[in-house]
Amino acid sequence: MGRVLPTLQKRGAALASSSSQRALLGALPLTRSFEDALQSSALYPLRPTGIEILQVNVGKKCNQTCRHCHVDAGPDRTEMMPDAVVDRVLEVLESTDIPVLDITGGAPELHKRWREMVIRARAAGKHVMDRCNLTITTLPNYRYLPEFFAEHQVEIVASLPHFRAKSTDTQRGDGVFEQSVEALQRLNALGYGRPGTGLLLNLVSNPVGTFLPGNQAALERDWKRQLQRLYGIEFNRLYTITNMPISRFLEHLEESGNLGEYMDRLVNAFNPAAAAGVMCRNTLSVGWDGTLYDCDFNGMLELPVHPGAPRSIFGWNLERLESREIVLGPHCFGCTAGAGSSCGGATA
Ligand code: SF4
Ligand code: SF4
Repeated sequence: MGRVLPTLQKRGAALASSSSQRALLGALPLTRSFEDALQSSALYPLRPTGIEILQVNVGKKCNQTCRHCHVDAGPDRTEMMPDAVVDRVLEVLESTDIPVLDITGGAPELHKRWREMVIRARAAGKHVMDRCNLTITTLPNYRYLPEFFAEHQVEIVASLPHFRAKSTDTQRGDGVFEQSVEALQRLNALGYGRPGTGLLLNLVSNPVGTFLPGNQAALERDWKRQLQRLYGIEFNRLYTITNMPISRFLEHLEESGNLGEYMDRLVNAFNPAAAAGVMCRNTLSVGWDGTLYDCDFNGMLELPVHPGAPRSIFGWNLERLESREIVLGPHCFGCTAGAGSSCGGATA
């Protein structure tokens, strides 16, 4: 892979800290608050519909440093989920009916106990999703991954901003597209993305720029046609995701003078139907240190769950977590603009 950009943290950037990100977002003169927008849609206070997905962020280390990354992940990050937290996450999964484990990072496969988490969650009857950046499977020590994924029937959710090399490499780094194509072809060869195999390969695309994603169904049709035609690649679903005004994308917005305009675009595109389906309503996020968040975005802004619910995996209480009030902020407009945006793509 080509040049790897430094993270905000490594550069000592002003927006490396979550408090400075929250302050910047909080000072924006928006035409209305997110709470007001929900209130006018009779959705406030926002509460979960249940916890169907436990999303576990095992750490910030990644082999890439994509420009839009909301985690500020990269090779220089050292935060990784400690053993005690991994043990507790597995205990919670094994002792509850939560049906889905969604593992994310950084590059989650870099965690030393990632394989064990997959194996134990599968043994407990859980559906396991892995948010894979694809290039990790081309690194010498991780070439085993596609076979491992298939053996354990892990659903792959893989980022690929565009089916054209230039757009993908602009956002994710030089050479990322070529390696991603190689990884997708290997996954296809094992049955991933092919009809009737049950091996799910879903792609995630986010705009390479300060605009909202296009229509998910239309883009999916186009992507399927183009990836098949250009590279013989098949996949199941395309999820379109809005770039969140957090971390590196927030810095990009601010430095390019586009922050106010981008936030206005998100606010003006508020869609109550998308708001009703935001992912924090059926997903609970566990940070690398065991802190509980309504979503991974709140995790990056260090906004833990409401104090009425346990704020750590060590105080797990399903009933109180399922009845909690979701913690909101201006960044939430990123989830409710247009057709909405979540870890599973559009929500409306
Ligand atoms: S977006 Fe994903 S692949 Fe890119 S740096 Fe962040 S965690 Fe790594
Ligand atoms: S940013 Fe998180 S808390 Fe806010 S609406 Fe989106 S998923 Fe929910």
